[in-house]
Amino acid sequence: MKNEMTLTFSAISANEAFARNAVAAFCVDLDPTIDQINDIKTAVSEAVTNSVVHAYAADAQDKIVTIKTTIDENTVHIVVSDYGIGIEDIEHAMQPFFTTKPDQERSGMGFTVMESFMDTLSVGRNEPNGTVVTMTKTIRGADWKEKKR
Ligand code: ATP
Ligand code: MG
Repeated sequence: MKNEMTLTFSAISANEAFARNAVAAFCVDLDPTIDQINDIKTAVSEAVTNSVVHAYAADAQDKIVTIKTTIDENTVHIVVSDYGIGIEDIEHAMQPFFTTKPDQERSGMGFTVMESFMDTLSVGRNEPNGTVVTMTKTIRGADWKEKKR
């Protein structure tokens, strides 16, 4: 059985901690290790930070981030969407150290971090505007098969 939850919140930095902790709390049902939970928190934090920092102009109305989290067997699927300016060249943006905001202490490592802490990462356009980041991680514990879902 799948277990799903969706969060929608304002794209402001005050919500980053809330978002990563909410997703982490939802994943606790999979009995992840502390390291696995920290990997998920870090990846969610990077994706949400990108929507907060890059997606919307300062004076934009309706700055929104949505996170849909689905647990299917022992795999968690996390989809972070915004409705902002989008990314012109996604492949280029995903290169390590590529950033459009070097002046704001950005290092261009967000996508690289997401890629290394999760099993899969894909980045796409959220038509008609915005960005959608999909990540998955399989929680391989000794006893997950015995759990009834
Ligand atoms: P860091 O994450 O290390 O602080 P960064 O955010 O610039 O720096 P990445 O997270 O790898 O690095 O993102 C690379 C680039 O992709 C960003 O500089 C930005 O131009 C673009 N980008 C990423 N996410 C979004 C988004 N949600 N909307 C618009 N542009 C984005
Ligand atoms: Mg980033």
